[in-house]
Amino acid sequence: MADCLFCKIAAGEIPSNKLYEDEAILAFHDIDPQAPVHFLVIPKRHVESAAALNENDGPLLGHIYAKIAELCREQGVDKTGYRVVTNIGVHGGQSVPHLHFHVLGGRSMKWPPG
Ligand code: AMP
Ligand code: ZN
Repeated sequence: MADCLFCKIAAGEIPSNKLYEDEAILAFHDIDPQAPVHFLVIPKRHVESAAALNENDGPLLGHIYAKIAELCREQGVDKTGYRVVTNIGVHGGQSVPHLHFHVLGGRSMKWPPG
């Protein structure tokens, strides 16, 4: 989608610090990390947010969560745990309108979130 930051990152038009890439998804380090480990996982296809997902996206979501678990093992946070967050819309705190899963680890997370 034109003028979408994460579509441009997915297409390689804007550089990112990549952890993993295949035909469907991309994982890259967040530019403003909020934890010792903070990376984002996105579908390459433009999806505005998790609110735009439907039943047919089940395989994509399974693939994303399986890859998150694998990357967290590689990053060494699988034993201590981590948090996966996807923000939706204004009150959800979404600043980039292309579906992304934040993966945060390496420190204790607070609950409830701010
Ligand atoms: P959200 O506020 O949930 O939409 O998350 C957007 C995230 O994208 C924030 O954590 C930003 O730090 C991150 N971000 C914005 N631009 C870039 C970029 N060029 N490369 C990596 N992460 C980015
Ligand atoms: Zn996009």
